[in-house]
This record gives sequence, C-alpha cells and structure tokens, in this order.
Amino acid sequence: MNSAPHDKTRIQPEVGDRPIRAAVIGAGMGGILAAIKLRERGMQVVVFEKGHGFGGTWRENTYPGLACDVSAHWYTYSFARNPDWKSLMAEGPDIRDYFDRVAREYGIDAITRFGEEVISLRYADSVWNLQTAADHGDTFDVVVAATGVLHHPNIPHFEGIESFEGDVFHSARWDHDVPLDDRRIGVVGTGSTAAQLASALVPRARRFDLFQRTAQWVLPRQNVPYSDEERARFRENPEELEELVRELRAKTLEGYAAAVIDVDSPELAAIERLCRENLDTVRDPELRRRLTPDYRAACKRLVISGTFYDAIQRPNANLVTAPIQGIEPEGVRTADGAFHDLDILVLATGFLVDRFIRPTTVVGRGGISLDDVWAEGPQAYLSVSVPDFPNLFLLNGPNSPIGNFSLVEVAQHQIEYILQLIDGIRHGEYAEVSVTPAAMRRFEDDRCEAARKTVWVTGCDSWYLDKRGVPASWTFSYDRFEEEMARPRMEDFDTR
Ligand code: NAP
Repeated sequence: MNSAPHDKTRIQPEVGDRPIRAAVIGAGMGGILAAIKLRERGMQVVVFEKGHGFGGTWRENTYPGLACDVSAHWYTYSFARNPDWKSLMAEGPDIRDYFDRVAREYGIDAITRFGEEVISLRYADSVWNLQTAADHGDTFDVVVAATGVLHHPNIPHFEGIESFEGDVFHSARWDHDVPLDDRRIGVVGTGSTAAQLASALVPRARRFDLFQRTAQWVLPRQNVPYSDEERARFRENPEELEELVRELRAKTLEGYAAAVIDVDSPELAAIERLCRENLDTVRDPELRRRLTPDYRAACKRLVISGTFYDAIQRPNANLVTAPIQGIEPEGVRTADGAFHDLDILVLATGFLVDRFIRPTTVVGRGGISLDDVWAEGPQAYLSVSVPDFPNLFLLNGPNSPIGNFSLVEVAQHQIEYILQLIDGIRHGEYAEVSVTPAAMRRFEDDRCEAARKTVWVTGCDSWYLDKRGVPASWTFSYDRFEEEMARPRMEDFDTR
C-alpha cells in the first residue's frame, strides 16, 4: 500500500457544521469505506460488526481456491491502491488482509464494535434508535447499512441430509478441521464458488464429484502473476498503476457492461464466442455435451476460470448431472439410482440474496416496517434510499450493479452520493432526507422496463432474478449509473 502522507485517523470537522453521529452496519468492504468517508467529513462514526474481524465476505469465505475473478487493481479503493497485488486476480486471504490493513490504517478498528449484531433500528424524532443483540443501545442521526448481498447461505434441504455420516457444510462456513487430501469429496453447485473449489480440490481429492443441476458458461481467464519489477514500478510510479487500473476497468466495462444490457450487442456475441471456444477445449464429446448450457452466456453470472475445465477432465473428477434424490449415511443417491459414496459434502449452493439489512428489524417514519415495504422484494431508489426511511442509506443495496463489476468502485460512487445527501443535514438545510414515493416508483418502473432488453431475462434461472422474475440488479448502462451517482436530483427527495 502507498505510505501514509498524513495521519489518516485524524478527523477535522468543518466549523459551523451541525455535529452528526453516524452508525455504519457491517465492517466489510462497504462498511470500512463508509466509515472512512464519513469520518473524513468530520462525523462521529460507530461501526457495528456482528463478526470478529474486518473483511465481510472475505472474512466469512475461507474455502480452498477462494479468489476474486475481478482484477485485483480494480477491486481496490481508489484512495488506497495496493501496488503489491501478486497477480491479475487476487486470492481471498490477500483481499481480506488488504481490507484489514486499510481499516487499521484509517483508525476504523478504534471505532468498531465487533461481535455486536444490530437487531433493531427504529426511527423517531429525526434520529435512529439502534439496538444490538448484546443489549447495547444508542442513537444516530444517520445510518449506513453496508451489510452485503452474498451473506446468508442458501442451504437447500436434501432428504436425509441429517443422516450423512461424513462432514457436510456450506462453502461459506468452511470447516478447516476436516482433512481434504486423498478424500472423497462431493460439491453441490456449479457457480463461481464451485468452479473455484473444483480447481483447488480435484488435485487433492481421491475422488471429486461435482453435482451439477445446471451447466454454466465459463469465460477463460488466466491469472497472470505480477513480477517483482512490476510491483516495484507500481510502488514508485503511482501514475503507471492508475493507468493499469484504467485499462483493466475499461476492458470489463467495454465488454461485459455493454453485453448484459443488450442481448443483440456485438459485445455479448463476443463473450458467447469466447465461452464456446473455451467449452470446445473439453476433449470428451459426452462430457462436453453435459457441460453445455442451454441458455445464453452471461444470463447467469459468468464463471471466470482458466482452470475449471482442466480440473473436471482429470481422471479422479466426475461430473454428476442426474438430480440429487437424497442423502444417505455414506453419500448421495441420484435419481438415476447411482450412489456416490463420500467423506465430505460441500454445499456450494449460493446465498439468500434478498435479505440486505434484514433480519434486523427496521421501522421507519410512522411505524412503517421495512419487512412490509419489501414484502414483494427489496427495492431502493438508485439502490441507496427507501421512502419513509429517512437518513438510512444502503451501500451495495438492492438494484445495485452486480455481477462481474468491481463492487468496490460501485460502493465508492454510492458513498459519494450519500455524502452529498448527508451534507444537507450537516449544513442545516434539512433534518431528514429520503426518496419520495413517486421517485421510487418511477425508478422502479424504468428499471423494470430496461430489464426487458437484458441478458438476465433470456431464459435461465439465477440469483439475479427476484420473485417476479425481474432482475434485481441495475438494468441500465454503467455510464448511467455513474451519471446518476454524480449528484442527487434533490427534487426526487423528501426533505424536512
Ligand atoms: P451461485 O452462483 O448462486 O450458485 C449456486 C449453485 O448451487 C448453482 O449451481 C445452483 O444450481 C446450485 N444449487 C442451488 N440449490 C441447489 C439444489 N437444491 N440442488 C442442486 N443444486 C443447487 O452461488 P456461488 O457459486 O456461491 O456464487 C454466488 C455469487 O458469489 C457469484 O455469482 C458471485 O457473484 C460471487 N462469487 C464471486 C466470486 C469471485 O471470484 N468474484 C467467487 C465466488 C462467488 P442452479 O444453477 O441450477 O440454480
């Protein structure tokens, strides 16, 4: 990381500002960012984190092979570049260490209450009353919920799972006491997590069974290491590093961002071609057939891997495509009658993605409950504000750009936008701010309309789709996201 030119833990309130107390919920990538930025504006900040360390998803996920398939230098705060990333895409533990280092460098450890789960937030008289499971209560002028998206494991119920005599756990709850070498390992799922697990575990397992319900498109990408000389150059020449970030960013945005919102785009055709060429490298035609998806590339989140097809073609790897019928004490029974005996069963079955700040009880103006407002699915104007929940802001909230983007950059745009809304409170222009119901409706109508042209609605099932089958993500262009985030349209906000 670049060395600190000044004391980053120091805060300096502007003279004449109304003092603001802010709560940040979550100490992952978004929460650390929010805390740094709110403090830079002179606010008094408390971070509540139910876990016992920084890093959010990078603290919770510790599975073998964990990595980020977004390029490391782009998946980095713009104000805390890290010239020392080892390769194009970083490994999970290095990412967790990075967020931990940044948090400490900016003094966020001193203002974080670890092991404190926020269980309720109630709004009254222009303040939020916050309560934690550890029975700590406090009041705040503003709350930033940086609670993450991929957080609550989706654990499907398989008949007989309780009878399994081996070890069974979700990929985000890895049991590191369980030995892996020379064992019979089964993994359920074929998402990004399962692909990384396959690449890491096939070389170690005696036998590796991958239980696939739906085949995935895999975009090939080799993880190129940075040399010592390159890292030294990035350290000495920050402008060269910025140039690299611009290049990495442009590559993804020009290709992926344009592809997902326009099914007729040449960019999507190019992605499909690359995925198909990659699939063609699978030598056995029968295995290739079973790995071939029956929907368009990028409809589900693209798996990005230069190693998955190699792993699944090894002699000790077995792709199981018959549906799981049930779990028995010694393994998995599939609907074709076959039995797969296992020592370890890993559920790489994804997450419940419609939770956001919940299960925290959130009660806004006039006693309105967020659970009721979100009964049909979570919605937030520009993904940051909900009508009648004043001074509550969401980072990487509902309808945010997700997928193969840098969520760090996304969160940075959002926090700058949120800070502008909070500035009005600081400067005494208003005491509360939340989006108007009309602006919320208009945004949601536009978003659903734009969704019709996206690749996400072309006939696959994925975690991008909500209960209604509408993509829960940002369905406009990434340019529009950046334009919207540049400055709030105050006529869309109810200020009092
Ligand atoms: P996921 O993409 O939601 O995949 C879950 C997998 O489990 C799917 O293959 C799904 O099959 C399968 N599954 C779920 N329930 C099942 C059931 N009852 N029976 C059989 N199969 C079942 O989850 P994930 O792989 O953990 O990834 C989640 C997200 O995390 C990714 O999309 C990505 O955003 C993020 N992630 C990112 C990285 C990275 O490198 N940046 C790495 C890992 C994860 P169906 O497809 O048939 O539903």
